[in-house]
Amino acid sequence: MQVYKGVIERYREYLPVTDKTPIITLLEGNTPLIRFYNIEKMIGENVEVYGKYEGLNPTGSFKDRGMTLAISKALEKGVKATICASTGNTSASAAAYSMRAGLKSYVIIPNGYIALGKLSQALIHGAKVIAVEGNFDVALEMVKKICENYPIELVNSLNFFRIEGQKTGAFEIVDVLGDAPDFHCIPVGNAGNITAYWKGYKEYKEKGKAKKLPKMLGFQAAGAAPIVLGKPIETPETIATAIRIGNPASWKQAVLARDESGGVIDTVTDEEIIQAYKLLAEEEGIFVEPASAASVAGLIKYARKKYFPEDKKIKIVCILTGHGLKDPDRAIKSVEFKPAVVAPDFNEIIKIIKQ
Ligand SMILES: *Cc1c(COP(=O)(O)O)cnc(C)c1O
Repeated sequence: MQVYKGVIERYREYLPVTDKTPIITLLEGNTPLIRFYNIEKMIGENVEVYGKYEGLNPTGSFKDRGMTLAISKALEKGVKATICASTGNTSASAAAYSMRAGLKSYVIIPNGYIALGKLSQALIHGAKVIAVEGNFDVALEMVKKICENYPIELVNSLNFFRIEGQKTGAFEIVDVLGDAPDFHCIPVGNAGNITAYWKGYKEYKEKGKAKKLPKMLGFQAAGAAPIVLGKPIETPETIATAIRIGNPASWKQAVLARDESGGVIDTVTDEEIIQAYKLLAEEEGIFVEPASAASVAGLIKYARKKYFPEDKKIKIVCILTGHGLKDPDRAIKSVEFKPAVVAPDFNEIIKIIKQ
C-alpha cells in the first residue's frame, strides 16, 4: 500500500517545489467525491451529480490545499511569520500550518462576522487574532499594507502558492472520474478557488490527463455579488459569511475562467442557500457550512432554468468548500425543532416518539 503524503507529494511534478522545499503538510486533500443519488433525481435522468467534500480537509475547508504550499514556501524563503485577512477558514488553516512550521501567525478578521468554529480554531492554534471594525475587504487592505512594510508572508489567495496548491482539487476530480466533468459548480467569494480549479483543469488537459474542460458555474450570494453586478459592493451582506466579500482579489481571473470555459457567474439568495444546505444534510447526509451550499443552490437554480442539456449523459461536480461544524449556530437556527426535555421515564419517551 502506498502511504498518502498530502497534495504536494502526490502532485509534486505539477507544483513549484524543489528538493530543497521543506514540506509542511497535515495530509490535506484526497477528499471524497460523493455521488448525490437523491439530489440528481431533481436534476434529470441523464445527469450524475457529485459533491467534492472539502470539509474533510484537516482544518475543515479547502484552504488547506493552498496553505500547505504557501507555508512550505514561506519557510523555504526564511520568513518568521505569516498574516492573513480572513472570513474564518483561511485563518484556521493559516494558524494550523504556521504553527506546525514554527512560524508566528497573525490573523485579521471582520469583527462580529466570523463563525464560532473558525474563530475557535485560530485561537486554539495560538494565532494572534485582531478583529477590525470593518468587513473582509477592509481587513485585506490592512494586511496588504502591513506586508508592504514588514517581512511577514501574506497567505491570502493573493499568494501565488495558494492558488497553485488549490488547483490539486481539479486533479483529484479528474483522477476519480477519468476525465473532467461537464459542469463545475463552485461558490465564489474572493474568487481564488474558481481561479485555481480552472487552472488545474487546463493544466491537466494540456498534460493529456483530461480530454475535455468543464464549464465553470460560479455562484455568489445575492447580497455579495460584485462580479455579477460588475462593481464592488461597499457593504456585502449574506448569512454565508465565507463569501461575504465585496471586492474579490481574483476578480479578473474569475471572469476569465467563466468566459474561457463558456460558463456563468450568477447569484443565489440566502433562502436558496439555506434550502440547499438543509437538502444536503437531509437527503445526502452531508453537513456543510452555508457558503458551501451555494454551489448546490446554483445547481438547482440552473436545473430549474433548464440550463443543462437533456439529450446526453452529463456529469456535474459541486464543490462543498467547508464543514458544517464550522457554524453550528446556523444549523440550529435553520431547523424548527427543539429537543424535548423529559424525565428518564420509558412511557414518557415512548409517548413523544409516537407523536
Ligand atoms: C474561502 C471560502 C469560500 C470562498 O472561496 P474563494 O476562493 O474566496 O472564492 C467559500 N466557501 C468556504 C467554506 C470558504 O472557506
